[in-house]
Amino acid sequence: MARVLIMSDIHSNFAALDSVLADAKGGQGFEEVWALGDSIGYGPQPNECISRLREIGALSVKGNHEAVALGEIPLEMFNECAAEAARWTMSQLTAETGTYLRELPQRAKAHGFTLVHGSPRDPVWEYITRPEIAAESVKYLDTAHCVFGHTHVPAVFNIDSTGMPDAQIPLNRPVTLGGGHWFVNPGSVGQPRDGDTRAAYAILDEESLTVVFRRVEYDIALTQKLMEAAGLPGMLIERLSHGR
Ligand code: ZN
Repeated sequence: MARVLIMSDIHSNFAALDSVLADAKGGQGFEEVWALGDSIGYGPQPNECISRLREIGALSVKGNHEAVALGEIPLEMFNECAAEAARWTMSQLTAETGTYLRELPQRAKAHGFTLVHGSPRDPVWEYITRPEIAAESVKYLDTAHCVFGHTHVPAVFNIDSTGMPDAQIPLNRPVTLGGGHWFVNPGSVGQPRDGDTRAAYAILDEESLTVVFRRVEYDIALTQKLMEAAGLPGMLIERLSHGR
């Protein structure tokens, strides 16, 4: 039996990552960690975040921010703010971080789940914002279920029914995954975009097939101070105060 800590879109926000790990340890606990990409980009501490993921033995996949930092996709694919932050990130990466990023797969499998950043159809780029989009990806799965990130909004979609609208995702109590194919997005650790400024994550109990969504406060001002010191774009600093 394993409880899995599921995180996505940490985005170099080490204060948020630290708070999530402390909250998860102090709560239900976990034996495994999955990180669904975009662990770097936007935020001020890329190397610290990757070191921590290595330390805790996270099973990680590659996001678009890793791909751009590795030069695998052109910076022009990003908007101006994201590109500026990506250039800064690239200037900061240590050799160890670079090695870790290069070895990341685009997809991974564990406990009957496929792990991707975007979608099984297009692991690095596609946004699954609605159950209809998840349904189109079912034929690219060779597991029953999928965990994904990229949208920065927590979600649970069941392909055999209508899916569960974001607003109905309950916090702190188990959502039971039943039959059919389930697509689970834990939300973003380091840059939430659903109007809640707290770091988002989820705990999967792979035996009972239940997921608990969690939100946790972190020191937003500290991350913002570090971003300012690094000269990162003001819009990226500001948005952490709004969760949009
Ligand atoms: Zn992201």
